[in-house]
Amino acid sequence: MAYGSDQRLNEWVAMLHDIYGGTQNYSKSPYEIHAHLTEVCGVYAKHLFKRRDPTLARTFLPKIFSWAVALTTKVAPNTDIEQLILRKFPNACPYCGGRPCICWHADKPTLDPESVKRLYESPRDCRRLPELRGWEYDKAQAVFS
Ligand SMILES: [Zn+2]
Repeated sequence: MAYGSDQRLNEWVAMLHDIYGGTQNYSKSPYEIHAHLTEVCGVYAKHLFKRRDPTLARTFLPKIFSWAVALTTKVAPNTDIEQLILRKFPNACPYCGGRPCICWHADKPTLDPESVKRLYESPRDCRRLPELRGWEYDKAQAVFS
């Protein structure tokens, strides 16, 4: 398969598998992969916070992504990463349903899986969740208008 810079997220996952799927990295146990993921996260944090070098730190983001994908596909080989991310971030805040999120100015709403599912299935209709209280929405409108 040909891969390119405009590929979808799951194609990045497939590309990583094509490149590294047969290597010893993927033959590592989930614990070993997790250890490596933790290590690259630590190096990222060291460059970002201790050395205050965000330019160098960000070079570790692709490594963090690839090790996170390696761990995920190791424990659940056919995981649809795009679906996972879209369910967590359904084109709006999963708590308040807002885009932008309005949780910061009020108590964070309880996560309602059914509301998140509706946002996920209708990502364009994400101005707010139906459960959002009117005064919260009015306050948010005042802030963002
Ligand atoms: Zn929110």
